[in-house]
Amino acid sequence: MQKYFKRANIYLVGKQVMPAEEVQRFLDNEADVWITDTDNPAHRIPELAGRICYMSFGEKQGRKDNNSYLSNIIKVGHGSVLEHTVYSLLLTGISRSLTHELVRHRAGFAYSQLSQRYVDETDAQFVIPPAVQDDPELEKTLQDFCDVSLKVYGELTDKLAEKYATPTGLVDFALREEQLTEGETGKFTFGEAVEGHDNLSIDEWRSRAAESESIAKFFKKKTIRARRKAAREAARAVLPNATETKIFVTGNARAWRHFIELRGDIHAEAEIRALACDVARLLKKEAPNLFGDYEIVELPDGTERTRTTHRKV
Ligand SMILES: Cc1cc2nc3c(=O)[nH]c(=O)nc-3n(C[C@H](O)[C@H](O)[C@H](O)COP(=O)(O)OP(=O)(O)OC[C@H]3O[C@@H](n4cnc5c(N)ncnc54)[C@H](O)[C@@H]3O)c2cc1C
Repeated sequence: MQKYFKRANIYLVGKQVMPAEEVQRFLDNEADVWITDTDNPAHRIPELAGRICYMSFGEKQGRKDNNSYLSNIIKVGHGSVLEHTVYSLLLTGISRSLTHELVRHRAGFAYSQLSQRYVDETDAQFVIPPAVQDDPELEKTLQDFCDVSLKVYGELTDKLAEKYATPTGLVDFALREEQLTEGETGKFTFGEAVEGHDNLSIDEWRSRAAESESIAKFFKKKTIRARRKAAREAARAVLPNATETKIFVTGNARAWRHFIELRGDIHAEAEIRALACDVARLLKKEAPNLFGDYEIVELPDGTERTRTTHRKV
């Protein structure tokens, strides 16, 4: 398994379809002829949405090509029309510090990110910041630190999970996980029989776990996942910002444009700026009429930035 990443992986996992028969049904029922010159749903969807505003179909249709229609939308700043096109990107090989900045983008985005509480990070991977990359001495310093952090993470997780295994802790975790459930008022039963013990109060369960090694063992086995999860949520405190993460991001075209502008800017942090440039490259290819105005410019230090004349549409 790759342990250190230098550049994000971007998987384009979701984009739209536009069922031609439904569009035709609308045109037949309520509009007229619509002439356009693209099959790309990312282009067709916002054009149709924009045309609804003025019902500019048939004789009322001015522009006949999609590029000039959407270019005008972008030029006049009618940005809400662009919100109808949506892309889902699955990003991996990026750091927690990058995603901390990414999720600040609220409008028009949805996120689902790898949970450091549920997912064991014993074999975590890391991202080498661009400034450190290709400098063997700095890379080694960073990697040595990452190795230490993983070791401490493992120790903390093991020790905390064990620390939670007191008679009180074991019963509390079984309750939290709803393995012990209330039957008669004040009496609790385990989902499956515990050596015939049933219908006991919480204090009675605690006493049994303290007195009987086999009951304690049973509870330990049943609560190990929950105890390790609780341990991980504390142990992750020692994982660095460089820890690799995965995030599923769905954003509309207007929101992606805003992201590309802010994070592709020369003032943005280097890792997210490289991502913004890669996202711009991908979306320019996917939907040139929506993202074609972005230039990706190489800077004297070999990194890149994005640039457009149409900011914040
Ligand atoms: C170079 C750079 C440096 C930064 N440094 C810092 C820093 O030091 N500390 C820090 O905390 N953050 C920092 N940020 C993050 C920044 O403040 C924004 O949180 C982030 O860029 C998201 O921008 P946004 O709010 O425009 O985006 P979104 O949340 O996606 O919003 C898009 C647009 O929608 C509108 N909008 C969204 N929500 C509201 C609202 N509630 N009310 C009114 N209008 C709204 C605004 O017009 C906004 O621009 C930095 C960002 C950059 C690019």
